[in-house]
Amino acid sequence: LSPVPSDIEISRGQTPKAVDVLAKEIGLLADEIEIYGQSKAKVRLSLLERLKDQADGKYVLVAGITPTPLGEGKSTVTIGLVQALTAHLHVNSFACLRQPSQGPTFGVKGGAAGGGYAQVIPMEEFNLHLTGDIHAITAANNLLAAAIDARILHESTQTDKKLGINKTDPSTLTEEEMTRFARLDIDPSTITWQRVLDTNDRFLRKITIGQAKTEKGFFRQAQFDIAVASEIMAVLALTDGLEDMKNRLRRMVVASDKKGQPVTAEDLGVTGALTVLMKDAIKPTLMQTLEGTPVFVHAGPFANIAHGNSSVLADKIALKLVGGEGFVVTEAGFGADIGMEKFFNIKCRASGLVPNVVVLVATVRALKMHGGGPSVAAGIPLKKEYTEENLQLVADGCCNLKKQIQIAQLFGVPVVVALNVFKSDTRAEIDLVCELAKRAGAFDAVPCHHWSVGGRGSVDLARAVREAANQGSHFGFLYDVQLPIVEKIRTIAQKVYGAQDIELSPEAQSKIERYTQQGFGNLPICMAKTHLSLSHEPEKKGVPTGFILPISDVRASIGAGFIYPLVGTMSTMPGLPTRPCFYDIDLDTETEQVKGLF
Ligand code: ADP
Repeated sequence: LSPVPSDIEISRGQTPKAVDVLAKEIGLLADEIEIYGQSKAKVRLSLLERLKDQADGKYVLVAGITPTPLGEGKSTVTIGLVQALTAHLHVNSFACLRQPSQGPTFGVKGGAAGGGYAQVIPMEEFNLHLTGDIHAITAANNLLAAAIDARILHESTQTDKKLGINKTDPSTLTEEEMTRFARLDIDPSTITWQRVLDTNDRFLRKITIGQAKTEKGFFRQAQFDIAVASEIMAVLALTDGLEDMKNRLRRMVVASDKKGQPVTAEDLGVTGALTVLMKDAIKPTLMQTLEGTPVFVHAGPFANIAHGNSSVLADKIALKLVGGEGFVVTEAGFGADIGMEKFFNIKCRASGLVPNVVVLVATVRALKMHGGGPSVAAGIPLKKEYTEENLQLVADGCCNLKKQIQIAQLFGVPVVVALNVFKSDTRAEIDLVCELAKRAGAFDAVPCHHWSVGGRGSVDLARAVREAANQGSHFGFLYDVQLPIVEKIRTIAQKVYGAQDIELSPEAQSKIERYTQQGFGNLPICMAKTHLSLSHEPEKKGVPTGFILPISDVRASIGAGFIYPLVGTMSTMPGLPTRPCFYDIDLDTETEQVKGLF
């Protein structure tokens, strides 16, 4: 339709097929799904055992150039591409998307179901609560947080008997009881485990806990992080099964003891309870696109402060379901410097999967911004540079596209550029981007119109991806995990971001020494850096050079399996803007229809 209706109107205009029908169509057995309502089902992991001898499909990653704060359409491209592959090229395909966070949904960016005629439906179910995975993660995370502070209080103020040892003769304790109830002597100043919430609540960035009299003066400074960037979310994304998830949860390090030894979730006796809270969240949720293509929704976004990729399990199951000739299209957050780098160095290292193609999403709008156009922000109408043809800005801004192509090539995977076309883009602008992308080394570059017309608008992209997948991938990691932590950070900073060097704060330096001493030096790196620039300064567009990347702090996510440096002033709890999206969101109480989501 023209003009294209709102996302929620389009979503509501299409009745999804019943999820059990969809499940049957893609070869799932009745006892392999757990149905939630009419259009969502969790998929049991037993499926992997049944399909273990099936060949994997081709594995395609959708990443992007450095975006504007509005997003450049990676989710829409992902969905448009599978719609085109399935309905128009008649190839089995599956999209693997991340569950949206309530933070952006009610904050700046809105939902993440794609948009226009390339959406996951029903979009309000996709965007809100889904099947409760983020709630489960929040519950598990905060149980562990509560266990830490309660343990410190009890150890300091009560006898061993009240700690849980109710046998008078210690020699009768089982080995498990000895471990579970031994004094941990946690050093409160080393606690790195934070409470989490899936709301953009900036006032929780620094808080004091334990101020009630009942806590006997055990107050300390703490903070909340956004739930989707928590270590438990990363565990969910990177695990390959229940046993592995339990072991990862067990290994999570929350603090050091007074002798400098790491204290884990297992030391606090909470592994079993965390696994119980997470037992359903580990199963990917099956949904569908507007055109009925299957979609897995699993794990979370926020590739700037987390690794922000969909789950290894969803990808693995989807690769089996599509079979050897099929395609799985999975999405990484933000620019290739952020989500894609983590996809390769963290997620592929954990999964052992080898990607065949990178689809790099660009828009004329973002390229103009990189070429020196005025700043772009949510809620502010776009200036004329963006609504009228301006070939110079596009040409200048293609430096960012070129750099992001080069970053993908560092990993040896062919790149197809998907130019997500907006209605104000002119023919000359579109041709220029495609020409410059190919000159920069892309295997192909094609304009896509899925947002305005659905899958048929991405058929050229689907053909280009299919051809690129036949080229063969020469995939390799960027660094050896055995390198010292500082060297790995420096490699990412210099080779990916284009920094001259890195600078460690004293805090970062001492954490690196501590983690190395504790035996955690050989993990990959998950940088927390702004997604709005290749550098640490969001206002620096294009391709900044000559900068020194400041590492302000370093955390360790041992269960997830990475070291987590914080760059510059990066915060792990976003805030709400002056005009948040929630102003527009409402419920029609008669029809129970949600309004204002986009
Ligand atoms: P990303 O995944 O890169 O963050 P999304 O796919 O979520 O981006 O798109 C961001 C927003 O932009 C969505 O609201 C979507 O509907 C809108 N959008 C995406 N592509 C187009 C397009 N070609 N024309 C108009 N709006 C678009």
